[in-house]
Amino acid sequence: MIAITGLQKYYGAFHALKNINLEVAKGERIVICGPSGSGKSTMIRCVNRIEEFEAGSIVVDGISLGESLKNVNAVRAEVGMVFQQFNLFPHLTVLQNCMLAPIRVRKVSSKDAEAIAMTYLERVRIPDQANKYPAQLSGGQQQRVAIARALCMTPKVMLFDEPTSALDPEMVKEVLDTMVSLAQEGMTMLCVTHEMGFARSVADHVIFMDGGEIIEKAKPEEFFSAP
Ligand code: ADP
Ligand code: ADP
Repeated sequence: MIAITGLQKYYGAFHALKNINLEVAKGERIVICGPSGSGKSTMIRCVNRIEEFEAGSIVVDGISLGESLKNVNAVRAEVGMVFQQFNLFPHLTVLQNCMLAPIRVRKVSSKDAEAIAMTYLERVRIPDQANKYPAQLSGGQQQRVAIARALCMTPKVMLFDEPTSALDPEMVKEVLDTMVSLAQEGMTMLCVTHEMGFARSVADHVIFMDGGEIIEKAKPEEFFSAP
């Protein structure tokens, strides 16, 4: 589903990603961990080309990101992303946040977009919040809206960049539970997270990054056992 080959990324003179190679199969769940500044976020941001990269290739579902802007847009339509800071539009309701991409990108009617949005708000179990504004919701609810919003594009891959790091502790579980249920449905997922319980229970592989490189890739039971 995702093939990253020889990926190199610089921020000016700073070498942020050094020859990253990674294959992610359809339905595979990968958790990426490693110290702050090791390049985790940069790597997954390259997968939908929020970040440009200097060398190497990324192919998502047979579409190569290197080649044209048309390909970049095609990949973005297949890759949903959830950020640490929920990134919801504050002046739009929950429902409008979820309707926006189906209307703008997929060109569906408002009526159909609303039906799609409600389907996924039900899926993350907050249909009753549809007409509220993000600021009226808890952090955990806002993050579930962000997940629903991404799902409204029926992505083939979901990228998570520390989705629970900005949440109060009591709200972490509701977001992780949503992610676990996505995993159980067979969603292909790349998750940057410090939640090692999630990694243990859900990940097919855990990747450890340091200094812009993948240092280790292992199954969770190997990763968490002493050498
Ligand atoms: P992580 O997600 O592992 O914390 P990041 O991918 O966010 O790491 O960052 C990797 C390195 O790249 C860090 O040293 C960070 O300071 C640097 N970096 C990230 N984004 C930028 C940017 N836009 N400009 C310059 N340096 C950046
Ligand atoms: P994260 O690790 O979750 O990506 P950061 O605090 O590293 O969060 O980065 C937040 C934002 O700041 C990102 O958009 C990143 O690209 C940017 N950034 C990070 N490090 C630098 C840097 N050294 N110079 C410029 N921008 C940076």
